[in-house]
Amino acid sequence: MFRNFKLVPKILFGRGCFAQLDEVVGGRRKSGEDWAVFVVDDVFKGKDLEKRIPLHDNDFLLWVNVADEPKTGYVDKLTLEAKNFNAAFPCAVIGIGGGSAMDLAKSVSLMLTNEGSSTEYQGWDLIKNPAVWHAAVPTLSGTGAEVSRTAVLTGPEKKLGLNSDYTVFDQVVLDPELTKDVPKEQHFYTGMDCYIHCIESLQGTYINEFSKAYGEKSLDLCRQVFVDNHPDSADKLMMASFFGGMSIAYSQVGACHALSYGLSYVLGTHHGVGCCITFDTLDEYYPDGVKEFRAIMNKTGVDIPRGLTKDLTGDQMETMIRVALGLDPLWENCLGKDWKNIMTRDKARSLFEKM
Ligand code: NAD
Ligand code: ZN
Repeated sequence: MFRNFKLVPKILFGRGCFAQLDEVVGGRRKSGEDWAVFVVDDVFKGKDLEKRIPLHDNDFLLWVNVADEPKTGYVDKLTLEAKNFNAAFPCAVIGIGGGSAMDLAKSVSLMLTNEGSSTEYQGWDLIKNPAVWHAAVPTLSGTGAEVSRTAVLTGPEKKLGLNSDYTVFDQVVLDPELTKDVPKEQHFYTGMDCYIHCIESLQGTYINEFSKAYGEKSLDLCRQVFVDNHPDSADKLMMASFFGGMSIAYSQVGACHALSYGLSYVLGTHHGVGCCITFDTLDEYYPDGVKEFRAIMNKTGVDIPRGLTKDLTGDQMETMIRVALGLDPLWENCLGKDWKNIMTRDKARSLFEKM
């Protein structure tokens, strides 16, 4: 079966284009009653960006905290807050922030129109009704969440996204100026998430010309940012993120992401740094990528946490292995159809023990 791939239909790009957000959302406001929800990372509270959010009188500014990456319980609470603010559907949901805030915005826009808890929709194509029109304004580059058809959520039983065509944003506003205050460590971790998307996609068994076209360009841009320190690096990393997302959409990520899901499920490790920690142990599978990753890490002077798994209980280690090995397509992409004979439980354990 060939996948019929849903794309983001509208994209604004360029330094300062955030100023056009009011006009873009304006196209959704058909009557004086119409209202919008701005789902905004609370890191911007009191910052210049807060004053630039184009809020109208009826609109709802929903601050979100991303100290913990998005959980289903939090999504349900935010959705209820929006419903309590105004019982009518909003005309737009706009997410402003990194991958976490964007995924929260996607989730709220879906849960406003789909009954029950978000835990019921973790999986593939379980969403029944189209979402409220939703837009993304990334302020941190790398995850590719701005283009993907998933919103990654941790629930009581699993870490699994709301994967559906309805999840895809209707509009993306790419303004590289918004990333200027990202802390150095975060810039590296989320940037490397993008780099790893490319390596896992390009070296995977699922690779095809579609994914290769995007993945190779994204990798080239990552190198211009992290190896050459190009002066336009914010613009380049924003496009690298977008293209990296496009590349994996039609292929898959691999071993690094599978292991990082285990790590994050048990220890709450955030996505970017978690991928860096797991990638650093994968010389055997991605020798050139890991070598270049380490060179970039040395150059930027950012380090990764170590010794994370040394005090794990036996049960925690078992859970970590179960979650990681449960991601069949990622392993098949990395190691081929025979992956179960290669990535045994013992092998996975030995990799986790290095972290
Ligand atoms: P993030 O959104 O979790 O943000 C990391 C930190 O950077 C936070 O403290 C945030 O407040 C801060 N931050 C964001 N923008 C800033 C700015 N301009 N200035 C200063 N600080 C800023 O980080 P992320 O790496 O972008 O996203 C990770 C999340 O994305 C995870 O929840 C992961 O599961 C998800 N993800 C989703 C997809 C997808 O396709 N949907 C893909 C990969 C990752
Ligand atoms: Zn990733």
